[in-house]
Amino acid sequence: MKKTTMKQETQANFSKHYFCKFCGQCGKLDRIKDFATEEEATETATHYCDCTEAVFYRQRKENIKRLNEAVGEFTDYCEYHKIKLNEDVAPLITSIGTHLIDRKIGKCTLAFANIQIAMAIGSKSCISLTFKFSDGRKIEI
Ligand SMILES: [Zn+2]
Repeated sequence: MKKTTMKQETQANFSKHYFCKFCGQCGKLDRIKDFATEEEATETATHYCDCTEAVFYRQRKENIKRLNEAVGEFTDYCEYHKIKLNEDVAPLITSIGTHLIDRKIGKCTLAFANIQIAMAIGSKSCISLTFKFSDGRKIEI
């Protein structure tokens, strides 16, 4: 019984004070709610912060999500159209895409026997992927 009370108190503290993980600014009062973990509270404070690092962090998270969805869509497409992919292809696209998102690579084109994959970061800092197949089919994400 005592343990539960302590846990509730700790959770209440999280909801009162949570800070951006980069600049340490306190989260906005109107967005305070109860969080299950300190990590969740910090993540939310960072999500709503306007500092440069937080903006970049949000953009990066969004791009990683977009990249993973694109890779999923691409592999589903290949599976559906009975295009055989080497098992290394999806992890390779994810790895290169992450390097693009982190600005370690400007742009990249991969060419396989029957597929060409062009990857770049667009003007609005969004990752773009284009999959071209030898028979003219194209997927743009
Ligand atoms: Zn911040």
